[in-house]
Amino acid sequence: MQKFSGFSIIAKALGSNKGWQAQWRDASPKSRYDVVIVGGGGHGLATAYYLAKEHGIRNVAILEKGWIGGGNTGRNTTIIRSNYLFEESAALYDHAVKLWEGLSQDLNYNVMFSPRGVLMLAHNIHDIQVFKRHVHANRLAGVDNEWLSAQECKDYCPPLNIDASTMRYPVLGGALQRRGGTARHDAVAWGYARAASALGVDIIQNCEVTAIRRGASGAVTGVETTRGAIEAGKIGVVAAGNTSVVMDMAGLRMPLESYPLQALVSEPLKPVVPCVVMSNTIHAYISQSDKGELVIGAGTDAYTSYTQRGGLHIANHTLDAICDLFPDFRRVRMLRSWGGIVDVTPDRSPILAKTTVPGLYVNCGWGTGGFKATPGSGNLFAHTIARDEPHPINAPFTIERFRDGVLIDEAAAAAVAH
Ligand SMILES: Cc1cc2nc3c(=O)[nH]c(=O)nc-3n(C[C@H](O)[C@H](O)[C@H](O)COP(=O)(O)OP(=O)(O)OC[C@H]3O[C@@H](n4cnc5c(N)ncnc54)[C@H](O)[C@@H]3O)c2cc1C
Repeated sequence: MQKFSGFSIIAKALGSNKGWQAQWRDASPKSRYDVVIVGGGGHGLATAYYLAKEHGIRNVAILEKGWIGGGNTGRNTTIIRSNYLFEESAALYDHAVKLWEGLSQDLNYNVMFSPRGVLMLAHNIHDIQVFKRHVHANRLAGVDNEWLSAQECKDYCPPLNIDASTMRYPVLGGALQRRGGTARHDAVAWGYARAASALGVDIIQNCEVTAIRRGASGAVTGVETTRGAIEAGKIGVVAAGNTSVVMDMAGLRMPLESYPLQALVSEPLKPVVPCVVMSNTIHAYISQSDKGELVIGAGTDAYTSYTQRGGLHIANHTLDAICDLFPDFRRVRMLRSWGGIVDVTPDRSPILAKTTVPGLYVNCGWGTGGFKATPGSGNLFAHTIARDEPHPINAPFTIERFRDGVLIDEAAAAAVAH
């Protein structure tokens, strides 16, 4: 793999930028792999990378029906944080944040991780109580989170409106996680693809999995795809909004619903929003990209669907909220909007586990908030596949928790979990 460094970039620039290699090999499917990963999003790519890097399993293929990163990985608003309420969740997401902190160096690829702080606004007494509870719970779990007054929120994010007389939902304070922030989502997919490919992983695009084969014992034996049949010792399904469809191929019914979730970006502005601001109560979140666009996220549609676009009224509602919080942005024009299909579990926590089918593993249910988990999810899923048992951090995130009632109920804790 060609190494990126300041020296190599200057040397290539002096040579008219000739001689850069392709970032990863465009592989054709082999007849057999030790592990097949279904889904070339960030989580699938990260899983393959850690399988090769940490477990020495390099005969691995990632099968992606479209192009890598073309699912939710390339469609999200890139918010990264770990201040979830329950200890299980905080440990899971903080494992990811710790990996984010060294990811560019690990991959030798600039994923533009920017810990600019995530500020979650409180608009009523209930919000204040919930966020203070989060702050205390997080601190007990060793995860940073702090309470700010309304004025302190304004000091941290100057364009924020805190004049209660002009607002429908006044800002009463906020919870701030300073280690939270954003990263460049395409770079995450490309960085993992490049590093995994360099370790021998085959990245196979335009290859849709259409069936999962099982032998007489019930264990998986391979997959059928639009590019032919492939034998596999183990199969990891990481297909986000399409997980139910893929798992149904193995005869498993998942506790998931798939909803459209949308985002939009504005015309580019000078740097004006220094952090990420989220409001769960009025369903809007905003940050500013390095290109200057305001990146704005909305809530899910009310109805399940597989269309990668959301309802216009949802975007309207979100922009109402943004204009209430940031009156200066009322005349900013929106450039693009799009949607992704998010897979939502009843307790809004993911499933990262073995299944009852030998050799079949599933990583799903990240819903509206899985981008932040990408490195941690891949790392733990690789452990689960390689050792055929979960890592202690993902051990609680089973499918069986919905049968046994051992929920990790972030839905009740926060209403939304971006
Ligand atoms: C608008 C929006 C905003 C969001 N904002 C945030 C945010 O700010 N912060 C955050 O943490 N999270 C956010 N998320 C959620 C986050 O994007 C996802 O949880 C995360 O990207 C999931 O990653 P993944 O790799 O599992 O899925 P994906 O990137 O969707 O990858 C799954 C892949 O599987 C492929 N696939 C499906 N079926 C098959 C098949 N049969 N054969 C082969 N391939 C198949 C798909 O083509 C897809 O590429 C947001 C999501 C959306 C849509």
